[in-house]
Amino acid sequence: PINNNPISVSKVRVIVRVRPFLPHETSRNCDDPVSCISLLDQDFQSQNDVAVYLKDPFTSRKECYKLDSFFDQEDNNVGQIFEREVSPMIPAIFGGCNATVFAYGATGSGKTYTMQGTEEQPGLMPLAMSTILSICQNTSSTAQISYYEVYMDRCYDLLELKASEISVLDGKDGHIHLRGLSQVPVNTMSEFQEVFSSGIQRRKTAHTGLNDVSSRSHGVLVISILSTPPDGNGSFVCGKLNLIDLAGNEDNRRSCNEGIRLQESAKINQSLFALSNVIYALNNNKPRTPYRDSKLTRILQDSLGGSSRALMVACLNPGEYQESVHTVSLAARSRHV
Ligand code: ADP
Ligand code: MG
Repeated sequence: PINNNPISVSKVRVIVRVRPFLPHETSRNCDDPVSCISLLDQDFQSQNDVAVYLKDPFTSRKECYKLDSFFDQEDNNVGQIFEREVSPMIPAIFGGCNATVFAYGATGSGKTYTMQGTEEQPGLMPLAMSTILSICQNTSSTAQISYYEVYMDRCYDLLELKASEISVLDGKDGHIHLRGLSQVPVNTMSEFQEVFSSGIQRRKTAHTGLNDVSSRSHGVLVISILSTPPDGNGSFVCGKLNLIDLAGNEDNRRSCNEGIRLQESAKINQSLFALSNVIYALNNNKPRTPYRDSKLTRILQDSLGGSSRALMVACLNPGEYQESVHTVSLAARSRHV
């Protein structure tokens, strides 16, 4: 993978991850399918960007987009994404800052694989939890988690037995409060796995025609840290890391959505568009940041912008040209220009 200096001018770094072809995709098309996604020759790259290049397999039309970093399908690299992009965000969280990591992309592009991962290949969520827990052990800090979903612009607590709706309130302190949201203290990875997997079971899934079961909601894992300052005068510093598996952006004409599926899809696309507008405003120092345009961006108001750091991982399926153009163009548009 090609990586650049992780410290760049963007407040929200935007990187691309291409998943490998899956075994059934290889046998259906040809034995060695050609990815429609590649990287431009490095000579074309400037210090702070990578140029990602998409090629239409039918018309050989080419599109080129500039982003912060690129991770190709050659090897399984979620560990590298974690080390280079997420791990550097963690010290500031112990200092009381907030941070956010998003996986963005179409259904089937690898968002859940990147964020949750599997037992053999843990994703960014367990990797971040594990790093945070080991820092907690060596400091007088503790961690707790919340897990909720944003579905049709409403928030549901996934750590409650019956995923109950929670309301979003603006606090006087400029922080956003999710009233009644469960916060569960976590001391070990096995405690985390137990709590988190029960929440994953509650996340809404439905048949869409494009994929048997696809996530129709944004899944938000929040790891909050409580630490005592080194002088020990007792006041707590609190920082949080939001790790978000965004709902898939999709094209309704292709997925044949109707009725409730179409409404869900409209809400999803609306909130993703609002998110890209917020990131664009932050990265380009616009006077106004449109947080209030969707529930998703409102919730993230205290974790995007200001002293917060954020990372958007645009996930791509190497065999899907149109879909990849859609994802990468929105990702590139969000980035600092
Ligand atoms: P999404 O959450 O974007 O809908 P998934 O994460 O469920 O997509 O990935 C779709 C399929 O591709 C799953 O079967 C998943 O296991 C597989 N997959 C995704 N990324 C990778 C990867 N980097 N390596 C191997 N398999 C992957
Ligand atoms: Mg998913």
